[in-house]
Amino acid sequence: SEEKSLNFIEEIIEEDLRSGKHSSILTRFPPEPNGYLHIGHAKSICLNFGLAIKYGGGTNLRFDDTNPVTEETEYVDSIKEDIKWLGFNWTKELYASDYFEQLFAYAVTLIKKGLAYVDDSSSEQIAAEKGSPTQPGIENKFRSRTVEENLQLFADMRAGKYADGEKVLRAKIDMSAPNMHMRDPLLYRIKHAHHHRTANDWCIYPMYDFAHGQSDSIENITHSICTLEFIPHRPLYEWCIEQLGIFPSRQYEFARLNMTYTVMSKRKLLQLVNENHVTGWDDPRMPTISGLRRRGFTPESIREFCDRIGIAKRDNLIDVGLLEFCVREHLNRVAQRRMVVFDPLKIIITNYPDTEELFPTEDNPEAAEKTYRHLPFTKELFIERDDFMEVAPKKYFRLAPGAMVRLKSAYIIKCDTVIKDENGNVTALECTYIPESKSGSDTSGINVKGTLHWVSAKHAVNVEVRLYDRLFRSENVAAEEGDFKDNINPDSLQVIQNAYAEPALLQSDLQERYQFLRKGYFCLDKDSTAEKLVFNRTVTLKDTWAK
Ligand code: ATP
Ligand code: MG
Ligand code: MG
Repeated sequence: SEEKSLNFIEEIIEEDLRSGKHSSILTRFPPEPNGYLHIGHAKSICLNFGLAIKYGGGTNLRFDDTNPVTEETEYVDSIKEDIKWLGFNWTKELYASDYFEQLFAYAVTLIKKGLAYVDDSSSEQIAAEKGSPTQPGIENKFRSRTVEENLQLFADMRAGKYADGEKVLRAKIDMSAPNMHMRDPLLYRIKHAHHHRTANDWCIYPMYDFAHGQSDSIENITHSICTLEFIPHRPLYEWCIEQLGIFPSRQYEFARLNMTYTVMSKRKLLQLVNENHVTGWDDPRMPTISGLRRRGFTPESIREFCDRIGIAKRDNLIDVGLLEFCVREHLNRVAQRRMVVFDPLKIIITNYPDTEELFPTEDNPEAAEKTYRHLPFTKELFIERDDFMEVAPKKYFRLAPGAMVRLKSAYIIKCDTVIKDENGNVTALECTYIPESKSGSDTSGINVKGTLHWVSAKHAVNVEVRLYDRLFRSENVAAEEGDFKDNINPDSLQVIQNAYAEPALLQSDLQERYQFLRKGYFCLDKDSTAEKLVFNRTVTLKDTWAK
């Protein structure tokens, strides 16, 4: 069998294990609880948890909750649900906020080593003094404060003596470093705000660069994997760990997932929710895990997608068609086949008695273990209106005056008479059936090319069907000029209020996946009520979008 080649992170891990640098590995997934997870996060989850599974290590779930203003418990809960649903189990559930006391102590250590100072400058002043990549920054007067003074001021910051923005703690590194992140980066800021876990215990909060690496180190994370934009942060990550003399976690970077026809940033997704462009984080058009789940995507298909796109060192744009291909492949194997008519046209089978027959019909021809439901067949049926043409072109294999088709799992019928109202609209078709043509025991000798889906009029169940299209009109949304919301596709949702479903769908549940014959893959939506079931189309049967 073909061996899959290792990605660059697997190569590093295998070398670290071979050389004895590590005897086992520990990764982490570090979401900030300021929104719901999206398919980009799924890539990071599959990578981090996947590596630990492959190499027999573990993965911590660490909430990167150092920014009190944007973080909420609702997001924490949704993140945990999504990771579990994707099929992964974390080693420990941890919070960066649990390290606040330790991080404070680390800051004090840096101050004592003369490597950090309290700066009274405004954020504008600090930005102005930072210089530019071609111009060195300016060392201000606060930089030369004594250790004692800094210790006192930092303690006062913690004690709440100052207002937001009045002071910051900065690392004392190099104001003319070529890497701007090394020009005395901020370590702590003052923020009098309520935190979702530490409440009002703190009014100073560590910056990302002071919290992330130290959190990795506290947990003995061996391989800390993040996206490419953190490459310039890596020297600071290593500087902190080295100056503090703590466990040397290492940071590695891979290309984030970007996908066509959507946006992949929590900030933008939050805007879509808040401004009611979608119905919520779990709107089936959203690229969130909860949106994809509600749309009918399976964990298997998302993991397969993440596996296929692989791990790159350069940013790229992945075709959403690949994600759809993955779910189609999985649903073809697991979906229950059902018949649903979206736009009904009545047919009356004039030579059929006033009784009914039940046709045992396979739920899924792909399944190893066969199960069947019983389709009721009666004199009056519905077919799809666009499966009939009064004046049909050559090679039209559906129904037309005088033409014959097979009704799936039932009989061959022939269209005899077209019934119209006073305006000339077709209201019904009178047909005859061929009694010897019953599916499975056909002795009629008649060959027809078209097979139509149908439902018995008397047994039809009224359901609502929601059909989705791309949320955005443009392939590369991020590359468009102007507000990304100008690119929203106004026709991303089409609702069919009254589709006619075969009665087996009355037993639907949220876990089950369905293929509506000739229509696509569907799942039950949580908006369903006892009066009306609602189905979401996950994906069409074939790729109908032009490449
Ligand atoms: P966003 O920009 O969408 O807000 P983020 O990076 O700020 O994302 P975090 O909660 O910090 O969101 O992300 C948790 C982890 O998921 C991080 O390690 C981050 O690198 C990773 N991640 C986020 N977005 C993507 C993406 N599009 N592709 C791959 N990994 C991602
Ligand atoms: Mg982040
Ligand atoms: Mg972000």
